[in-house]
Parts: sequence; C-alpha cells; structure tokens
Amino acid sequence: MKKKNIVAIVGRPNVGKSTLFNRLARKRKAIVNDMPGVTRDRIYHKIKLPDGKVANLVDTGGLEPTTDDYILSQMKTQTLKGIEEADVIVMMVDGFAGLTAMDEEVADVLRKSGKPVIVAVNKVDLKGAKDNIVDFYSLGFEHYTAISSEHGTGIDELLELVSQYLDDIEDEEETTENEIKISIIGKPNVGKSSLLNKIIGEERALVSDVAGTTRDAVDAVFKYNGKTYRIIDTAGIRKKKKVKHFVEKVSVILAQKNIKRSDVVLMLIDSTGDPTLLDANIAGFAHNNYKNVIIVFNKWDLVEKDTDTVKEYEKALKQRMKFLDYAPIVFISAKTGQRVKRLFKIIDEVMAQATKEIKTSELNKFLEEVSRKHKAPAVRKKPFKMYYITQTGVLPQTFTIFTNSMYPPHFSYERYIENQLRERFGLKNVPIKLIFTKKP
Ligand code: GDP
Ligand code: GDP
Repeated sequence: MKKKNIVAIVGRPNVGKSTLFNRLARKRKAIVNDMPGVTRDRIYHKIKLPDGKVANLVDTGGLEPTTDDYILSQMKTQTLKGIEEADVIVMMVDGFAGLTAMDEEVADVLRKSGKPVIVAVNKVDLKGAKDNIVDFYSLGFEHYTAISSEHGTGIDELLELVSQYLDDIEDEEETTENEIKISIIGKPNVGKSSLLNKIIGEERALVSDVAGTTRDAVDAVFKYNGKTYRIIDTAGIRKKKKVKHFVEKVSVILAQKNIKRSDVVLMLIDSTGDPTLLDANIAGFAHNNYKNVIIVFNKWDLVEKDTDTVKEYEKALKQRMKFLDYAPIVFISAKTGQRVKRLFKIIDEVMAQATKEIKTSELNKFLEEVSRKHKAPAVRKKPFKMYYITQTGVLPQTFTIFTNSMYPPHFSYERYIENQLRERFGLKNVPIKLIFTKKP
C-alpha cells in the first residue's frame, strides 16, 4: 500500500510541539500556548521537505498519560489515532527540562506502536540543554537529534531523518482559487455543528469519532450545483464546549483568523434567544475586514410565527447592527434543513455581487450624476471636487475616487456615494470599500 506520508509530532505538554508544527507549516494554524490542551482536533498540514518530498504533518495535541479531564482524554484518543496512521513519529522532548517520567510513558506507547521514532531533543538553545541529550538515549530509540523549534536550528537534519521513512509522492497542487470559502461563526449552541452536518451530510463529532474514518483536512471541501465550496475549520466548529474562560478567548482569536481566510461569513443567531445575542465584536470584525456577512437565524422551526415575525426579527437586528445593514438575512433550521438550499443561493448571489466587474466609463458617468444630484459639502472649508472613479478591486468591492483634497468627504456623503453605488450597480448585499485620494 502506498504511504500517505503522515508525520506525527508527539510528546508530553510544553515540550514545543506546536512551535515546531507552526515553524514547519509556516502558518500559525495551531495555537501555541503554555497551557496544555489548546490544540484539540487533529490538524493536518501539507509541507514540502528540503529534498522535495511531500509530508502530511499531523498535529495531535499533547499526549497526557494520566488524566480524568474530558478534553485531555479526548486529545489522548486523537493522539493515539495520529500515531496509528503515522508513517514516522517525531517524539519531542524538552532538553532543558531533561528526561521525565512522562517522557518515558510516552515512549512506552510509541514503542508498542512499532512505528519508526525519531527523538527530537528540543530547546537546545537554552543553557545546559545539550548536556542532557545523553539522558534520553535510555529511551532506546534509533534516532536522536538536537533542535530548537523556536530558533529553527537543527530542523533540516530532523527533516532528513524523517524523509527516509517517506515515499516519493507527487504533490497534486491544490487550486483553491475558485473555491468559495465559508466560515460558520456564532456563540456556543446556536447550531454551528448542526448546520455543518446538514451541509456536508455526515455526523462526525470529536466525541463520537471512529477509528479509521480520518479525513485529511480540517476544512470541508465539497461541490454543490457545480461550484466548489470550502467550509473553514470544521474542527473548530465541532469542538465541543466545556469552554473555560481561557479557551473562549482562544476561540475568538481563531474565529478572527477564520474570518480573514473566508469569502463569506455565516453569522449564526439562535432564533429562540435574543436576536441581539449575535456577537457584535465578531460581526464588527467581519465588517471591518470587508467580509461578506450573511446573517443566519437558526432554529426557525422552534419559533411561533405570524405574518410579522420575520419583519420583527429583521428590525430588531438592524437596530443593533446598523453597520451591517447590507448583510442578507435568512431564516433556517439546521435541524430540518429548511431553507439550507436557499442559504446557498444567497451565498452564490453575494459572491456574484462581490466579484462583479464594473467599467470605468460607467462609473464616471455615475459619479457625475450623483455629484450633480447631491453636491459634496466643503471639506476643511474648501470646496470638495471629485474628478473620477475607478474600480480597484473585487472581494471586497473597492472603488478609488480621485479628488482635490487630502481628506475624505464627510462621513454622510461617503455613505451617500456608497448607497448610490449599491443601487446603481446591484451591490446591495456586499461591503464596499471607498478610497478617496488626492489627484496627483
Ligand atoms: P507543546 O505543548 O508541546 O505544543 O509546546 P509549545 O509549542 O506550546 O511550547 C511550550 C513552550 O516552550 C512555549 O512557551 C514555547 O515558546 C517554548 N518553546 C518551544 N520551543 C522552544 C525552543 O526551541 N526553545 C525555547 N527556549 N523555548 C521553546
Ligand atoms: P454549536 O455549539 O453552535 O455547534 O451548536 P450545535 O450544533 O451543537 O447545536 C446546539 C443544540 O441546538 C443541539 O441540541 C442541536 O440539536 C440544536 N439545534 C441546532 N440547530 C437546530 C435547529 O435548527 N432547530 C432545532 N430545533 N434545534 C437545533
């Protein structure tokens, strides 16, 4: 059987696994922190080794041998699975701390797996750490190498050792260009994982994970009506609660990262709760980053409705989220699937708007008309003139207007132009970025 070139980095907490993972993956995808237990579901990352081979790095979280804690015990299961599927294992130890009983327990597990193990003695940048390396020889593995994940020393040597256990597999270059990247955001219990399951049609939560049903990514990529969609960070969506204050903070940071990666942000709200329970901070973050937000009221099946209910919900929301007044609103049930198809129609429509190209000639005609209809107020006591306008980007829709001033016009005038652009060019549901610049 052909190898999948899976490399697992395991070790007790705090030895520096995430630091190494991040360095190799060159993306801060796994979270580095002194608190054990933050990286939870498995994260895979495809990397290229110096010799050109492709490796799939699996980040397994810590291997905490004895604990009753729910998350940590889940992590242990994840780690064991990571070990099971790995072609080679990098066992990481902390050279500064020296050999510990927990390292020996980890080594026992690895030895039983029968997989090739390379011991990476980390933190050798710290004083005295190098002297401790010999202590680890008692673990009885074949390869030992000294590294500093933080400083990047010894990494090439480590990868050389790793490479000898991997096949020469082709890198089928993924093209993510035409994918529509979606993130599902919202407070706990609004139905994020239910919606995800409805969309990708499978039930796989961390809690009920079955050995062997591994997927090679945390994003879910699928085709629907001929288009390709990618739901970002499904592991994060499925991550089960038990949120301590700390982890909550981390999840906000993760949510922000996910938002930055996405084209479309689905902001879920529980219709049975207060509509203002939408996380205003997260919504504001999405708005400030010019992301295409869609407001999704979920659990609509639980709401007692009359003819005005929809309008009331919309009104309550718009009062709170004036800045998001362009965001489409949809009422769904992740449970029954009601209007989930409609949700995809809206996603497609939003994407069509956000990527629409507009001719400069039409834009300039537009600018002339709107400034005639409603003259720009003076800026810093000087008449404000707009000379021409051009589309300088899509996703988000970006327009640059050349003026006679170093300053932008009054906010309300900016809003006027923005709204007129929406009207004229069918950009009703997407954020618009306006740049005013002095004509050279
Ligand atoms: P993990 O729990 O094994 O994933 O460990 P982390 O990657 O979160 O690292 C734990 C701590 O050790 C963090 O404070 C890191 O900054 C630190 N650390 C990791 N690698 C090195 C290293 O090579 N040198 C030094 N001095 N510190 C390191
Ligand atoms: P998450 O924490 O945002 O991922 O929320 P979950 O998907 O775990 O859902 C939380 C609870 O709400 C679960 O008990 C779901 O069964 C329930 N739920 C989610 N969506 C709906 C829905 O559309 N209708 C109803 N009636 N219940 C839902």
